[in-house]
Amino acid sequence: MSNKKLRPLLAVRKKCLNCCNKQTKEITHCPVDNCELFQFRFGKNPNNKTKLTLKTIRSKCVDCSAGSLKAIKECWDKDCPLYPFRIGKNPNLVGKRQNNIGILHDSTHQ
Ligand code: SF4
Ligand code: SF4
Repeated sequence: MSNKKLRPLLAVRKKCLNCCNKQTKEITHCPVDNCELFQFRFGKNPNNKTKLTLKTIRSKCVDCSAGSLKAIKECWDKDCPLYPFRIGKNPNLVGKRQNNIGILHDSTHQ
């Protein structure tokens, strides 16, 4: 299944669903409050001041890849909902202003 058109918040929600074997209750009671996605696990920004950024998604990928930027770039899991966003860009905004914060300019370095 292509994740290309997913919005970032929806991608996070799907990632959490995958993480919890589709058990929404488990997402609600997720004990991993230091997970980068924790505040966004319901597919919403928790408040007006705390908004999901592509950097947050990127941080989750860094964690998933044990800090290897090369591993993120070469990630084999194309079904992961975060896959389209893993390099810090939103493919849905190609040709438009990107809502990232200047991350991943160092993607060739480990
Ligand atoms: S916040 Fe992190 S640990 Fe918790 S369900 Fe989502 S991906 Fe899993
Ligand atoms: S896109 Fe790849 S590196 Fe990022 S969370 Fe998914 S599996 Fe891990």
